[in-house]
Amino acid sequence: LEKVLEMEEKPTRRRVVLVPVPAQGHITPMMQLAKALHSKGFSITVAQTKFNYFIPSDDFSDFQFVTIPESLPESDFDDLRPILFLLKLNKECQMSFKDCLGHLLVQQGNEISCVIYDEFMYFAGDAAKEFKLPNVIFSTTNATTFVCRSVFEKLYANNVLAPLKDSKGQQDELVPEFHPLRYKDFPVSCWATLESILELYRNTVDERAASAVIINTASCLESSSLSWLQQERLVIPVYPIGPLHIVASAPTSLLEENKSCIEWLNKQKVNSVIYISLGSLALMEVNEVMQTASGLDSSNQHFLWVIRPGSICDSEWIECLHEEFLKMVSRRGYIVKWAPQKEVLAHPAVGAFWSHCGWNSTLESLGEGVPMICRPFSTDQKVNARYLECVWKVGIQVEGELNIGGVEKAVKRLMVDEEGEEMRERAFSLKEKLIASVTSGGSSHKSLEEFVHFLRTLKR
Ligand code: UDP
Repeated sequence: LEKVLEMEEKPTRRRVVLVPVPAQGHITPMMQLAKALHSKGFSITVAQTKFNYFIPSDDFSDFQFVTIPESLPESDFDDLRPILFLLKLNKECQMSFKDCLGHLLVQQGNEISCVIYDEFMYFAGDAAKEFKLPNVIFSTTNATTFVCRSVFEKLYANNVLAPLKDSKGQQDELVPEFHPLRYKDFPVSCWATLESILELYRNTVDERAASAVIINTASCLESSSLSWLQQERLVIPVYPIGPLHIVASAPTSLLEENKSCIEWLNKQKVNSVIYISLGSLALMEVNEVMQTASGLDSSNQHFLWVIRPGSICDSEWIECLHEEFLKMVSRRGYIVKWAPQKEVLAHPAVGAFWSHCGWNSTLESLGEGVPMICRPFSTDQKVNARYLECVWKVGIQVEGELNIGGVEKAVKRLMVDEEGEEMRERAFSLKEKLIASVTSGGSSHKSLEEFVHFLRTLKR
């Protein structure tokens, strides 16, 4: 009897199971979310696959990490490219995650109150549904991309997206009702067919089994897309709770950060350096690297350049580049394999960010008031670039084939011309708005509080 009483008196601690996509740009916001929820009193379990396995530092010592068993070859992550890899991973993990979740439920019983999964790990939603466990979709990209994905099937069926197959022609035209997005800005990938993209998006935006959607964005950035999602598309609540990197920072880098670049930045003048990084997946051809380096050189600006190993096609690192490249770097540049990006963007010497416009990089740059040169590669990056240039007006997009003149012009517009100064001012005011949104009384702050309340009151 004593034991029963003891059990009755003990309040059940609430645990959430988080399922990130195994890629840097998805693990980071998921771990930031985990930190935020942990600080609100939730216990955390992170379920991950062997791909890009996140090895937690002491900052995560209170968290439980479990592995979802699967038997895909290690090479699939690189060989298949994101869309096909995700389709395969979801099929592969369908059963094994069910077993994994079943074990967790046996171990932890009523403690588990919810599964929160990256929008692309939809197998986790299916498994949660089987156990009648509430589940929440976490979108680590932005709300506008979510909108595009959610209408993709309809537009595709009505042949509205036919121009996407067109290599030139209508690519520059605006997509009806999606201004300012042009066909070429629509979030599709050059590495997959429209049919594979359709299959992925159909599952990604299938919210029928979910209890809510959380998005790493703020209403000051995307109010109309957020309203549309909530009013026209989703019957479940949408919580814009970002930018999460300001809410809860935590070390989440999969690669070792080279901090020597901060010492180099310390020696540079205010707003005099352009920071170049293309995130964790984008690739460049040798010729593009050379054109960019020459354009930077002729613009006379200093630059800090992240060249990730394997990011130049057919090369381990920079050994394929001509001697001329190293000469240009030694004149005004500094190269690292991986940088402490948030620290770099916060450094006063950094005046602009040449970026592939991944959503995390975009939020990190906006959060520090740094204007951007946009060179998107794929999917949501194209939407982000278009918004940076045409909606928030804090970026310049470099389109088409890269050439020295084009690079030099873009760099000078941002680093030298008055136009750049105006963009910097706008970026600064956006920074203030973003900080206000995650501070007490701000929209994302309120949204996170509401989401936490929602999680606490969820019933199984
Ligand atoms: N990043 C970093 N150091 C680098 C380059 C990138 O820490 O040298 C981080 C960056 O801060 C961001 C993430 O890697 O949080 C990249 O995510 P993003 O969504 O921008 O692009 P993705 O890698 O998904 O294409």
